[in-house]
Amino acid sequence: MTDPHRPASSDDRAVPGDAPTGEDALHVRRAWELALENVEDGGRPFGCVVVEASTGEVLAEARNQVAQTGDKTAHAEVVAIRELAAEGRDTLEGCDVYVTAYPCPMCLGALYYAAPRRIVFGATREQEDEHYEDGNDLFRLRTFYDEFAKAPADRALRAVQVQPQDPTRPFRAFTARHGDA
Ligand SMILES: [Zn+2]
Repeated sequence: MTDPHRPASSDDRAVPGDAPTGEDALHVRRAWELALENVEDGGRPFGCVVVEASTGEVLAEARNQVAQTGDKTAHAEVVAIRELAAEGRDTLEGCDVYVTAYPCPMCLGALYYAAPRRIVFGATREQEDEHYEDGNDLFRLRTFYDEFAKAPADRALRAVQVQPQDPTRPFRAFTARHGDA
């Protein structure tokens, strides 16, 4: 499939709309500012901006709240998703998400559920790891994704399966009630 408006690329995953724009630079800069402001306030160095892609409207600005709240899941991306959900927006479809660094596995998973159009990030995981330590014994920032590629039995976080009687009944009950959709 050839797009005449796009220069030839060796990266076949690239799709029209992926190329960074001037607006992208402004919003990723804003996420970077939010991260710096958060550090000045005693927080962690992460910010997130959610933008409606079709209108350019900024829907949410969020800072990492882990240090402020003690909630380990209060990463900027998750904070933004929760703020928008509280306003009645239960999906990020049609949105672009701007972040200080490429999302951690938790946030990437959350973003897969929220399904934005794309992610625009400032620093790579490797750049982040070079200058920042999360302080968790189970993983390093640089290799966190490798952990997920391992077989479950080889992961640092141990998991044990204990099957109750009829373990899939909750899923069947849901599907019976709501259908497959
Ligand atoms: Zn995260």
